[in-house]
Amino acid sequence: MTNDTSGDVRLSGITKTYGSFTAVHPLDLTVPQGSFFALLGASGCGKTTTLRMIAGLEEPTGGTVHLGDQDVTALPPYKRPVNTVFQSYALFPHLDIFENVAFGLRRRGIKSVKKQVEEMLDLVQLGEQARKKPHQLSGGQQQRVAVARALINHPKVLLLDEPLGALDLKLRRQMQLELKRIQTEVGITFIHVTHDQEEAMTMADTVAVMNAGRVEQLGSPTDLYENPRTTFVANFLGTSNFIEAEVDARSGDDIVLKAGGGKLVLPGARCGAPTSTGGKVLVGVRPEKISLTHADEAGEIPEGRNRITGKIADSSFIGVSTQYVVDSPVCPDFEVYAQNIDRDPRLVPGADVVLHWNPAHTFGLDAAQD
Ligand code: ATP
Repeated sequence: MTNDTSGDVRLSGITKTYGSFTAVHPLDLTVPQGSFFALLGASGCGKTTTLRMIAGLEEPTGGTVHLGDQDVTALPPYKRPVNTVFQSYALFPHLDIFENVAFGLRRRGIKSVKKQVEEMLDLVQLGEQARKKPHQLSGGQQQRVAVARALINHPKVLLLDEPLGALDLKLRRQMQLELKRIQTEVGITFIHVTHDQEEAMTMADTVAVMNAGRVEQLGSPTDLYENPRTTFVANFLGTSNFIEAEVDARSGDDIVLKAGGGKLVLPGARCGAPTSTGGKVLVGVRPEKISLTHADEAGEIPEGRNRITGKIADSSFIGVSTQYVVDSPVCPDFEVYAQNIDRDPRLVPGADVVLHWNPAHTFGLDAAQD
């Protein structure tokens, strides 16, 4: 770790309104130097507006933007130590790749650019393509030129606005890893805007999930996935099951809940709901954490697992595992999704089953939140 804080980005009460519409509600956010940070959210949630306020392309209605110790709120974009890579790449079509990358240096009057441009082209693995024109490169290669062109100015912070949005799925996956490698190599702060949860989780060390102009939750990809604090976050980052339950008692660090006729155990530390007796909790558990056992074999399920009964409504074999949709009297309002690696030929639609999982994989949300 470094003590360098020049690439810290600090937003304090930053807000943006358009007439009576608030695109970004007062937002406090610190992105530490050297992190790969993602602003993740659905279209219209305010992530691009937030990015543009950091870049200086959008004037905040209130609040401040600091880069390192410097208050840059009133600085125009070109005076901020920040560069932006857009989805459209915005390469100059008439210039070759070398000149596209050299552009920022030449504009600053720097004459000997060869070494720096070559280093940048090597960084993005395009050393061989220097004399081609942008249209002779693939989408992924053009994207890397855009990254090299931005990085050659040695920004403290690189902003990426849906940079992979125009690429097909396979190329997008390659570029995700590629961007992550480049970020690790240059070590500066990357702030990435995307609506694609997989992309954010693959690349970023910290993700801010935005919803309707607010950061709903901030954390590492694993933390957000395993400990979502709202149903929005739980559903945005994959699929989640929800079971309505009621607090019955405490047992050491655990909370014992009543659900249907049975009981479920939830680690207290993973409960974001009031835990007084009678409190309503929405119990969440990811499908891949739930196993299915035919009701006839229920006696073989190890002690200590949460369990609910159900009947298979549908199943689909997806290669590595089989996914099941189960109707359970314990949660009449929701279907339950589960996943088994082992295939049991008796687990077909109509079969009575027991769904069971390790209580450690359970999270609890406030049932009154929405
Ligand atoms: P997308 O992924 O579609 O770009 P986003 O999350 O980046 O979405 P923003 O572009 O930040 O969303 O926009 C947030 C909200 O602000 C949207 O409802 C948008 O319609 C609104 N908005 C953005 N720019 C303006 C503008 N210049 N005037 C009025 N409303 C605007």
